[in-house]
Amino acid sequence: MTDPDCLFCKIVAGDVPAEVVHTTERTLAFRDINPQAPLHVLVVPRHHEPNAAASAEADAAVFAEIATAARSVATGAGYDDYRLVFNTGAGVGQTVFHTHCHVLAGRPMGWPPG
Ligand code: AMP
Ligand code: ZN
Repeated sequence: MTDPDCLFCKIVAGDVPAEVVHTTERTLAFRDINPQAPLHVLVVPRHHEPNAAASAEADAAVFAEIATAARSVATGAGYDDYRLVFNTGAGVGQTVFHTHCHVLAGRPMGWPPG
């Protein structure tokens, strides 16, 4: 499914430019336009769903592929330690309603998150 109004669907389609760093059959990974760490990449499923759980329900395999793509992005950049974040809902900061996994690495990260 593709949503014609969705920014990340447009990036997947190549209609909006992005710095793509990794691709798989079901996923695309590109640099976040407003990086919050030395490595900040978004891994998105090619298929539009609004959030992580919806993607998992639509296609369980895509979730495994997002996790392994995220590892490839992090280790490929030299980071064995990295943080994965799926914001779900505007109340916790989700601004793009196409599932995306933030891959963050390269600086100390506090816990719990702010
Ligand atoms: P979230 O707040 O979890 O929905 O994350 C959305 C992320 O998308 C933010 O970190 C934005 O900086 C990022 N973003 C927005 N527009 C673009 C774009 N055109 N290319 C790359 N990243 C983007
Ligand atoms: Zn989309």
